[in-house]
Amino acid sequence: MLQGKCPNCGYECVGWGLQFPRHQSCARCGTGLQITRDGKPLGTGYSPFTAEKESVPGPSTTPTKESRI
Ligand SMILES: [Zn+2]
Repeated sequence: MLQGKCPNCGYECVGWGLQFPRHQSCARCGTGLQITRDGKPLGTGYSPFTAEKESVPGPSTTPTKESRI
């Protein structure tokens, strides 16, 4: 069984749903959970906040070619 614990606020949750990125962030504060399986650490879960830090800041507007109606 997978177990997740938030390193920020201590929130804990258990379940196979933790294998999905959308369930790997803390329900309280959004921090990426520390995922463990059978006591072995699998790593830190996906968090939309940490993901934004890794992305390169730049213009968010991208030209679209979908102009035909
Ligand atoms: Zn938290």
